[in-house]
Amino acid sequence: MDSLRKETRYDVAIIGGGPAGLAAAIYAARGAMSTVIFEKGLVGGQILVTAEVENYPGFEETTSGYFIVEKMKNQALKFKSEIIQEEVRAISPEGLCKIIETNNNIYRTKAVIFCTGAHPRKLLVPGEKRFTGKGVSYCATCDGALYRNKTVAVIGGGDSAVEEALFLTKFAQKVYLIHRRDKLRAVHAIQQKAFNNKKIEIIWDTVVQEIEGDSIIKNLILFNKKESKTTNLAIDGIFIYVGIIPNNDLVESKLDLDPQGFIITDDSRHTNIPGFFAAGDVIHKVLRQVVTAVSDGATAAFSAEKWIEENIDNFPQ
Ligand code: NAP
Repeated sequence: MDSLRKETRYDVAIIGGGPAGLAAAIYAARGAMSTVIFEKGLVGGQILVTAEVENYPGFEETTSGYFIVEKMKNQALKFKSEIIQEEVRAISPEGLCKIIETNNNIYRTKAVIFCTGAHPRKLLVPGEKRFTGKGVSYCATCDGALYRNKTVAVIGGGDSAVEEALFLTKFAQKVYLIHRRDKLRAVHAIQQKAFNNKKIEIIWDTVVQEIEGDSIIKNLILFNKKESKTTNLAIDGIFIYVGIIPNNDLVESKLDLDPQGFIITDDSRHTNIPGFFAAGDVIHKVLRQVVTAVSDGATAAFSAEKWIEENIDNFPQ
């Protein structure tokens, strides 16, 4: 690998420092590839704001997302992966190499692994923007404690909405879970916990039409789709968990994407462009969990290493 180091600044550049990116860094750096993670915010990704993780193998006791990613970060650093806190602005191929431009610098790498994750989808109803930070939140872990003994609504029926509704019962006196259908999408185990929790009331077949208030949020205008009926619901806060949107801005015009914008990869996490790999929530897949993100990251790093070795004679000297 020494010859590789002379040729370029890094063998593998990983864009995004969530669980997928950290796992990719651990595997690439441990495989003696010179490795860098570019992260524009905090290392850790979306899982940083998950207060309770109970299904990550190896952690028998419920633990926090923060604890898990701190361990991963330290492990990546131990194997001499670098972490650069800069935002990647553009990536362009130059022969087999890739040129990475950040706000401050230009880097050259042989392989890139996109681990850019996803961000919360907005409801796009009147009042949502106006009351964001004044009662509208996308993060129960960050804001839940502000609602001690208050009444809150959680919107959505997936794993995030149901898990966060359960989390909010630690603080709020009442949690309405408002879902647009008559069945939850969340996995059975957490559905049952929600059904058995006396603080949670599920409002079925209902969408939010408007979020109202004065200086803070006060009321939701709801529409029941089955009964075609509009009602008001007095609340102190609303937590929106209606899915995620892939962070694909850097690659939108370059890589093959599914109709929702998630990056399409093959089994080795290779995209349609040689030397471009992807892992974690940004890719098309069936299960979005920390455990699948780290699996993707490890696979992408392994495949990137193999790809570099196979093409080593074709990189510029
Ligand atoms: P999700 O699974 O896509 O669920 C989004 C929910 O929001 C669905 O119930 C959907 O309704 C509803 N929805 C979408 N657009 C809406 C709108 N405009 N108005 C009202 N409701 C709307 O998203 P997620 O819960 O954020 O989860 C994202 C991924 O992370 C999933 O793969 C999930 O399994 C994973 N995740 C896993 C865990 C865990 O295992 N511990 C925790 C959190 C997330 P419909 O059901 O009608 O489509």
